[in-house]
Formats: sequence, C-alpha cells, structure tokens
Amino acid sequence: MLEYGAMNEKLIIIGTGPAGYTAAIYAARADLKPLVFTGDQLGGQLTTTTEVENFPGFPEGIMGPELMFNMSSQAEKFGARYAYETVTAVEKDGESGLFVVKTTGGEYTAQAVIVATGAKARYMGLPGEKELIGHGLTACATCDGSFYRDVPVCVVGGGDSACEEASFLTRFASKVYLIHRRDRLRASKAMQQRVLSNPKIEILWNSTISDYRKDDSGELCGIVLSDTETGEQRPLELKCVFMAIGHEPNSKFLGDLVDTDPAGFIIRPWGGAATRTPGLFAAGDVADAVYKQAISAAGMGCWAALEAERYLLELED
Ligand SMILES: Cc1cc2nc3c(=O)[nH]c(=O)nc-3n(C[C@H](O)[C@H](O)[C@H](O)COP(=O)(O)OP(=O)(O)OC[C@H]3O[C@@H](n4cnc5c(N)ncnc54)[C@H](O)[C@@H]3O)c2cc1C
Repeated sequence: MLEYGAMNEKLIIIGTGPAGYTAAIYAARADLKPLVFTGDQLGGQLTTTTEVENFPGFPEGIMGPELMFNMSSQAEKFGARYAYETVTAVEKDGESGLFVVKTTGGEYTAQAVIVATGAKARYMGLPGEKELIGHGLTACATCDGSFYRDVPVCVVGGGDSACEEASFLTRFASKVYLIHRRDRLRASKAMQQRVLSNPKIEILWNSTISDYRKDDSGELCGIVLSDTETGEQRPLELKCVFMAIGHEPNSKFLGDLVDTDPAGFIIRPWGGAATRTPGLFAAGDVADAVYKQAISAAGMGCWAALEAERYLLELED
C-alpha cells in the first residue's frame, strides 16, 4: 500500500530544460503548484552553450545560461517548486492510480507526471572532448552553423542527419568534410545524392577522428584524422566539428510506462504530449527524434502542461 502524506503531489515535472520550465510556467499559472525535479543538469543543455540566436524574443541573442535562469525565475514566480534530485524510476500504482516517483532523495506520489528529461547527443568519447563543446565542437548544425562562415568544418556520421547537416552547412562554410567510418553512407538514397552532388562537400570514407587540436584560446582549430582500415593518421585544419552520430534520450527510467522508438525517444501516440500511460506526458527532446530545438521543446512543454491540466480536471469530475 502507498503511504500518502506530505510527498503527495498533483503534478510532478521531471527536467529543467526549456520543456520542463515551460511546462512549469503553465502549470504554476494554472495553480497546480508543480514540483520540478532538476536532475544533475540544472537548466538543461542550453546551460552548456554561449549565445542563443534563434530563441524568439531576443533580437540581439541571449546567453544560454541567462535564458534558462530567466525561465526558472518565471516559473518560480508563479509557484513552481524545485527539488534538486534525479529521478531513478517512475511507476504507476494500480490500486490508487497514482504515480510513484523514486528519486535520489526519496519517494513521491503524484496524480500526473510530465517527463522533460531531454536527450544527450553522442560524442566520440575522446580525451578533452567535454571542454571543447561550445568551442568548436557541437552536435547542432541548426544552432551553430551560422557562426562558422567562410571556414572549413566537418560533420561526423553517415546517416540522414549527418547528410542533412552537411548540406545545410554548405550555406555558410567554405568547405564541409563529411567524416564517415565506413565506405558507404547509411542515409536514404535521396539524401546521399544531395551530398554526393554538392561540390562543397568532400566525403572522407573509412575515416574517424582520433584527436582534436585547439589553439591558445581553447578553440578547436583542427583534428587528427585516422583511416579506419590502415590506421594511418593525418592532421586536418578546420574550425568546427559537428557531431551527427545520434542522441540518447533520457527515457530508460520510465520502464514500460512508455513506448519508445528503437533509439529510445518516447512515442506520443496521439501527436500531443500524452504517452500510452494516462496521466504521463512527455515533452521536449526526450520525445522528439526530429527537431530537437529549444523553442520546439518549450512548445511541447506548453502542450504537456495544458494536457496535464485537462487530465487533472477530468480526475476531479
Ligand atoms: C551546446 C548546445 C547548443 C545548443 N544551441 C541551441 C540553440 O542555439 N538553439 C536551439 O534552439 N537549441 C539549441 N540546442 C538544443 C537545445 O538545447 C535542446 O533542444 C533543448 O535544451 C531541449 O530541451 P529539453 O527541455 O527537452 O531538455 P534539456 O535541455 O536536455 O533538459 C533536460 C533536463 O532534464 C533533466 N533530467 C534528465 N534526466 C533526469 C532524471 N532522471 N531526473 C531528473 N531530471 C533529469 C536534466 O537535468 C535537464 O534539466 C543546443 C544544444 C547544445 C547541447
């Protein structure tokens, strides 16, 4: 049996990226007093970047951490509460219909839960990589492509995303190397054709990055390229590496409460924020295999809060 007490919540929101904070703003303004679990990355992915130029409302751009701090304050102003804990599991109690949210700090129950835990971009795992993220190493061409005008850059990967990002980057860069560890691309035929016919893109087959080079100011200025067949190494000068080798959505802790696609992105069967479990909603990158942008995550956070509010009203009736 569940024990009900002070830990029983109406709405729990998991995650403090644009999706979680937007959900918190909407839910707090609807007087739901949401409890928001921050996880270990308070403010989400945008806290790891500098200038954000494509979030509406900031014609001069805004620093990522400042944008996230503003969102946090806005939600708090309306009554959202934060718990600096990481959720380890979510279960649904068959008898009470309540969600049991287990965290690093304890156990909570809630009538509805919004999952906004994001997705981690995959990197190569090379030494010194973390420090270069945001300094010439990124996993988002849409976000950072326009910062690299008239300079050589590379994209790592061989799937549709890698090909799409390489094509997109030719608008800005002087040259785009597409680094792929095999001798053929995994992308769709149409996408391959687009890349192969673009004179600005050079595909480096059977290749991988074995090291990064940075200049005195800590910005990436080149890579060491390795041949995956011969092991031969050579330096390559470029200003930015765009990783396109996939994302890892933070959805495992939900067990079988949600369906996911093969990569782990939460499936929203009705197109909104509802998952297959009534009362459990998903928003942002964790449930978006396609766009993965701050503004789309924020938009989904809004859907999730409105849908959760409606669900809670129906429970009361
Ligand atoms: C370097 C970089 C630059 C970017 N630049 C731009 C840009 O210029 N413009 C743009 O639109 N997008 C940009 N993006 C993409 C953008 O950051 C993401 O699309 C957006 O942050 C996704 O928001 P989210 O709310 O879904 O998740 P996230 O921002 O990933 O936040 C996830 C949250 O969930 C929490 N969490 C995870 N697991 C748990 C758990 N088990 N328990 C509790 N909490 C948990 C984390 O701590 C975090 O607070 C950039 C991304 C990166 C990495």
